[in-house]
This record gives sequence, structure tokens and C-alpha cells, in this order.
Amino acid sequence: MDDSLTSVKLSNGLQVPALGLGTWQSPKEEVKTAVRAALDAGYRHLDTAYNYKNEDAIGEVLQEYIKSGKVKREDLYIVTKLPMIHMEPKLVKRSIEMSLKKLQLDYVDLYLIHFPVTLSYDGDDENTFPRTEDGKWKIPEKSDLLETWKAMEELVDLGLTKSLGVSNFSISQVERICKIGKHKPVTNQVECHIYWPQNELLEACKKLGVTITAYAPIGSPGRPDRIKKEDDPIAMEEPIIQKIAKKYGKTPAQVLLRNLLQRGMIVIPKSVTPERIQSNIKVFDFNLTKEEMDEIGGINVKRSFFNFMGNMCENHQERPF
Ligand code: NAP
Repeated sequence: MDDSLTSVKLSNGLQVPALGLGTWQSPKEEVKTAVRAALDAGYRHLDTAYNYKNEDAIGEVLQEYIKSGKVKREDLYIVTKLPMIHMEPKLVKRSIEMSLKKLQLDYVDLYLIHFPVTLSYDGDDENTFPRTEDGKWKIPEKSDLLETWKAMEELVDLGLTKSLGVSNFSISQVERICKIGKHKPVTNQVECHIYWPQNELLEACKKLGVTITAYAPIGSPGRPDRIKKEDDPIAMEEPIIQKIAKKYGKTPAQVLLRNLLQRGMIVIPKSVTPERIQSNIKVFDFNLTKEEMDEIGGINVKRSFFNFMGNMCENHQERPF
């Protein structure tokens, strides 16, 4: 079997487990159950963010597993993200320190800029998405993405993170960072699933030595209603996916994940349901044929479920989409 897909080598020589647990919208009590189930099932890669407000609950379980000797810190791959309200360079180090404290860790394995647009910081660390009166995100008069990146680089030099990355960045934004960076981004975490395959971004990032981490890999069926449209397609119900799942005796979710892994991506499916968490990692014991990969690639419905974020910051020079 094709074990080579279980991990991905990054441009800085480090390895990342190709499948991790997503934790967006996982409330504290549920995320504890989820992380325990994931670690027990063999997950070593966890994806969180300052903005998810669950780092402290994840930290509790990590401590529990490390202290009891069930896992070793060096075998874990912990990812968190710089919130948009802390992108002013002078706030960056304090922000990762806040995350590390909650996670009860000395370092994370990967620290990402969550989104390329800086939001106004008014001293309230809980107000992660400040709004203007018209409901849009509140944007400061000046911000400079490259200066934020330089502040991120200091975190590697200080040993607070092993690697750096970006999220929701456009091709030109990744290129700009790669050009100036002393430490290059090892990944760009972006929306990616059968309806939003990111072919162009994947190719461009590959050339730059930047991996793609696919968020919403099974189509984010639990995303909030306010961002759902009535005619949004449902990836797990897509007939081609169901047909292939039946052939291999796999679930549609497993086929969706395997498809992205075979495209060379890292995937971070979210679940708080232990059975689903256990099943989502069982994707390394079957192989989609080239014909099946092509058939999935040929699904002609194209739809982003997260482009609303671009609409929230229409006038910002770094709006990525
Ligand atoms: P997703 O992983 O595609 O879908 C998660 C949803 O699918 C949850 O509602 C989950 O339900 C359900 N689910 C999971 N496994 C299933 C299975 N085997 N069968 C049926 N349903 C299943 O979408 P996502 O959470 O939007 O994205 C994944 C992760 O990417 C996030 O959690 C987060 O870590 C990251 N992310 C990052 C960004 C960013 O801006 N960087 C944006 C979005 C997401 P239950 O939990 O109820 O089981």
C-alpha cells in the first residue's frame, strides 16, 4: 500500500503528518473528547487557531497525554494561527505567547498567518472580528503584510515555532512572501474540496516549494447557516463520490480525503464525533485509480464556500479573493 502519503516533507526538511484533526467550531468540552479520540486513533497533527477559542481545552488534553506518557511532544504536530487583530508587528510575539500559554506548550510546530488582511486592534483580545457600523470588518488605516511576516520570522529564531506558514493567501501574496522571506512559508492553508479544487494555486505553490493544506476537505457540511446558500452542493452526496465509495467499501468522506491526499495535499478534516474521527484517518489502505482521480477532477460544479471572507474586507489592499 502507498504509505508514502502518510506524511509530507516540507521545504525546511521537517515532516508533517498528512492528515490532521481540524477544530474550527469545536467547543471546548467537545474538542477535548475529539482530541482524545484523535490521539487514541493515531492522529498526531492538530489544527487550531487563536480565533477558535479552544486552544486552552486542547492544551489540557495535550498535557494529560504527554504527562501520562501516551504521546511524546516531539511526535506531535501542533498548528495554530495568528489572528487578524494581532497582525501589527509589535503584537505578533505576544500573540503566539498567548497561544502557547493556552496550549501549555513551549513551541508550536507551525504558526500561520490566518488571513492576509489586518483588522483593527482596540485592546480587546476577545474581539477577534471587530466590525464597522455597516457590518464589515474594521480595518486600520495602514498595514503591511511583509512587516507582519518579518515579525513572524523572529518567532522561529526565538524557538517559539518550528515552521511558518500562511492561510487564505493568493498566488501573488505567497510569491511576495517567498521573495522577501528569510524563513519561507512551508504551507498555504486554503479552502479545497471537489467543488473548489485550487488547481492553479496548487501548481504555483508547488513551484515555490510551498505545500497546500486543504481546509473544508469534506465540504464543510457543518459551516454556519449564515454562509450557506440554498443551492450549495454537498460533497458527500456527489454521485461520483458515492459510486467510488461503494466500490472500495469506504465512506464518501474517506474518498474525498483520499482524493486530496493523492493530489499531494495535507488534509485537516474536522469532527467532534469519535466514530468519524476514527474513520477519517483510515484513508491509507486504498488507492484511487487515475481514471477515478480524473473523474473527480472533472466534476464541473465550482463553488467556494468561504469567499464571504473577501466580501467582509472589500476595500483592503490585501483582500485575497
Ligand atoms: P470539514 O472538515 O470539511 O467538515 C467538517 C464537518 O463534517 C463537521 O460538521 C463534521 O461533523 C462533519 N464530518 C466530519 N467527518 C465526517 C464523516 N466521516 N461523515 C460525516 N460527516 C463528517 O470542514 P471544516 O471544519 O470547515 O474544515 C476543516 C478544518 O480546517 C477546520 O476545522 C479548521 O481546523 C480548518 N479551517 C481553516 C480555515 C482557515 O481560514 N484557515 C477555515 C475553515 C477551516 P461533526 O464534527 O459533528 O462530526
